[in-house]
Amino acid sequence: MYYPFFMRQLFLVLISLLVGCCSFAQRTFLHCGKLIDVKAGKLLSSMTIVIEKNKILEIRTGYLQPNSSDRLIDLKTKTVLPGLIDMHVHLESETKKGGAADRFVQNPPDIAFQSIVYAKTTLHAGFTTVRDLGGSGVNIALRNAIARGQVEGPRVFTAGKSIATTGGHADPTNGMRKDLVTDPGPTEGVINGVSEAYQAVRQRYKEGADLIKITATGGVLSQAKDGANAQFTIEEIQAIVAAAKDYGFRVAAHAHGTEGIKRAIRGGVHSIEHGTFMDEEAIQLMKEYGTWYVPTITAGKSVADSAKIPGYYTDIVTPKALATGPIIQSTFGKAYKAGVKIAFGTDAGVFAHGKNWMEFVYMTEAGMPALEAIRAATLNAAELLGMQEQLGSIEPGKLADIIAVDGDPLQDIRAMGKVSFVLKDGKIIRAN
Ligand SMILES: [Zn+2]
Repeated sequence: MYYPFFMRQLFLVLISLLVGCCSFAQRTFLHCGKLIDVKAGKLLSSMTIVIEKNKILEIRTGYLQPNSSDRLIDLKTKTVLPGLIDMHVHLESETKKGGAADRFVQNPPDIAFQSIVYAKTTLHAGFTTVRDLGGSGVNIALRNAIARGQVEGPRVFTAGKSIATTGGHADPTNGMRKDLVTDPGPTEGVINGVSEAYQAVRQRYKEGADLIKITATGGVLSQAKDGANAQFTIEEIQAIVAAAKDYGFRVAAHAHGTEGIKRAIRGGVHSIEHGTFMDEEAIQLMKEYGTWYVPTITAGKSVADSAKIPGYYTDIVTPKALATGPIIQSTFGKAYKAGVKIAFGTDAGVFAHGKNWMEFVYMTEAGMPALEAIRAATLNAAELLGMQEQLGSIEPGKLADIIAVDGDPLQDIRAMGKVSFVLKDGKIIRAN
């Protein structure tokens, strides 16, 4: 059938009008008493944020009135800021007295069910995005379930299973009875040498990880004597970083001891986690290489506290927790003052999920201004994730991850523990 040109044009206009009407999205207006502009470093008053679907449409001065079809949320008594990002959590588990025995009795479904609870708690505390730095691999399924909307939780970027060396921190058979000890190999994240380093990274890709985590030194909570020794050669680290680059992965390195920290920096990792015994040379190396520091002060303080409870940890862990834990805060203070790039991270799971906000208190105690601590958990964290175009600030075009707290955290940082509104991906999670 042949239609004259103008008829076809008219037809197209009608169709587009029809589609336009039907898809006219309801917008959400947030009336914000105070709004922290993390990019400009300013506290704004009486602002309106307009959201359409899962994106921020515009930010306007004053309280704009919505149409009758739009939704209005009154946050006039609150301080509004971007959804928070924790760069170091473990959503699969949570500390408890005698918890070292869990790995002998828990099956993956047990881990999965509890991780659902921890994910929800984290999101309700205002952390709309997290980096999960190591678990059994359930964290990958959890990320997918959250992304599908089946489980309530933060946007997850996960390392899957951490990569260790034989007997190292994150060797899953570490410290077990002789007949239970196996050689897990690169499939299970235990490598020795360059070719296994490549294989382990490729295995993480195959399993669906978003990034790579290595345990460059011993760890406080592993069933092994030394909590700080270097556990990878620089060649192994370089191989992991090179393999990771092929797959678009960034590499996070758990590291307490000085030698392991330096090898990880020189090997090209993107972030040092904990960094407890970082010395002046390590600080200078981090600045030179542009390596991020994710301090996890909260983890250090809480493992030291838990270690004082008899029977909380095993005998091999207790002295490490007492000696290592309290040091991180002063290391952080030195690194910050020296100008090392800082991204917020807590190691939640080592302490109760939902208490992640305590890190803000500890960061400011160590000399970081409140605004800088909030930037570390928003702008900086988004940059370390490579998500700075989508996350980390309240700007037009970015994803609508927005929270509000009671009080003004720039005056009293403990307001970060009083989250009363959470919007993630344009969806209201809590409003009370
Ligand atoms: Zn950790």
